[in-house]
Amino acid sequence: MNALYVASRYLRPDQRIVLVDRNDRPGGMWVETYDYVRLHQPHPFFTAGNVKWDFGKPPEHLSSKTEVLDHLRHCLDEAEKAVQVTELFGHEYQSSEEENDVVVVTCRAPDGSPVRIVADRLIDAVGFSIEANQPLRLSSTRVRSVAPETCDMRDGPIAADDAPVWVIGSGKTGMDTLHALITHYPGREVNLIAGTGTFFINRDRLYPTGARRWWSGARPNWFLAELANRFDGTNEYDVATWAREKAGLWATPTAAHLFIGLISEAEIERIRAGLGRTVMDHLLDAVDDGDGVRLTLRSGGHVDVEPGSWLVNCTSHFDFADRPSEPPYVSASGRSIRIGATGLFGFSSFGGYFLTHLLFLDKIRTVPLYTTDSIALFQKSPLAGLVSLLTIAQYNLGLVADHAPAKVFQQCGLDFDRWYPLPRRFAGQLQFLIGHKRRREQYRRALDTMGERFGIDHGPVIGAEMAPTS
Ligand SMILES: Cc1cc2nc3c(=O)[nH]c(=O)nc-3n(C[C@H](O)[C@H](O)[C@H](O)COP(=O)(O)OP(=O)(O)OC[C@H]3O[C@@H](n4cnc5c(N)ncnc54)[C@H](O)[C@@H]3O)c2cc1C
Repeated sequence: MNALYVASRYLRPDQRIVLVDRNDRPGGMWVETYDYVRLHQPHPFFTAGNVKWDFGKPPEHLSSKTEVLDHLRHCLDEAEKAVQVTELFGHEYQSSEEENDVVVVTCRAPDGSPVRIVADRLIDAVGFSIEANQPLRLSSTRVRSVAPETCDMRDGPIAADDAPVWVIGSGKTGMDTLHALITHYPGREVNLIAGTGTFFINRDRLYPTGARRWWSGARPNWFLAELANRFDGTNEYDVATWAREKAGLWATPTAAHLFIGLISEAEIERIRAGLGRTVMDHLLDAVDDGDGVRLTLRSGGHVDVEPGSWLVNCTSHFDFADRPSEPPYVSASGRSIRIGATGLFGFSSFGGYFLTHLLFLDKIRTVPLYTTDSIALFQKSPLAGLVSLLTIAQYNLGLVADHAPAKVFQQCGLDFDRWYPLPRRFAGQLQFLIGHKRRREQYRRALDTMGERFGIDHGPVIGAEMAPTS
């Protein structure tokens, strides 16, 4: 949606954008995600370009799925005021080929027939290709295995009895699920199989409310930049420890996993107070054992659970295990770009925004953005992958600041620091403008070290070729 919205700012009213999505409506993964999901950041910064939310709720409100979907539709409507948009929902993108001065895209319509689109440019924005979680396939016939997407914790079949619930996974979906269960069924037995445990960033620290915005809190842009500033290519565990000590919150006895999710102190307190058992291990299977049920664990241990228990699959939506590496983010001609998992700007929303600006400014092939084979990296070390992506984001934002007009940043409604009053934001912008050139070499050394350490492709891309780095 960010790519489309930015494109709509450059095109004339008589020009056309064709939007292809296999879903039947706008909203991306939010269409399929569980119904009780809520935004984890204050809603104003979850948008396309600088489109304002029009529902009049206070800025700290965490929007529901329905509100997110309505807003993304609103973003599309705003883009359609400036340019013609052909909406091809229910269409599957299949392939593209560059021929002379055009890109020929092949899609499949809902009835299976092929659709051919001839375009000047192509933006492939399938993001992380997130798919809805399915219930875990378990051997036991005596447990109820569900997923948040197949059973609403608030009023789905799980509400019909008071059997114990075991939530599998302690990431954002796990926390949303625990919070929903504990809030709706006070006193019910709700347990957690937490894996290695995830820690979150304290939303109250990054987004203090009311007048406290003037003097307290840690600016999100400062916090994200500090993570990159501390990275030397080898010390991702130290960087994560710093983040945990500075602003970490977690519901489990220990927490090693970081994915930059946000949670409040009140939410964590409520989850801790209502949580029964927490098992720091990974579930392998549930097997019937005599009259009971045994959960087998990766460590070799086990947990006996009551027959009839519910098991809710909250393991990761972000599965990199069997994914092939991605091609470069820009084609040799500069006509096609891809906002994939490569994370050139950290989050895919920022990728959609900044890459599309570079595309229409005709700078996509000349600004040497740093990139890496992030899929291979996440397969080898999710923590090194995350810290590297945050470092790449800082490096690349600095390059955009040097090559794009100031309005690209001024009109970026995604900017998390907009939470703070102008003087604090200006101080942050000044810090970035003074420091980003000096930091560039440091970031590059850290990223080169990381790339060599894990043996993956890495380096700045110039004219669609990755520059040699060693
Ligand atoms: C449970 C969960 C909660 C999250 N909560 C937050 C949050 O609170 N705040 C936040 O900022 N981020 C959150 N995220 C991250 C979220 O993924 C991003 O916010 C954002 O939705 C990503 O947008 P995207 O357009 O890059 O990808 P997506 O939203 O995944 O959109 C990709 C689109 O591409 C389509 N597509 C894929 N392949 C094809 C094809 N071949 N043909 C046609 N269409 C195709 C898909 O149908 C989909 O509509 C959350 C993620 C998950 C899983």
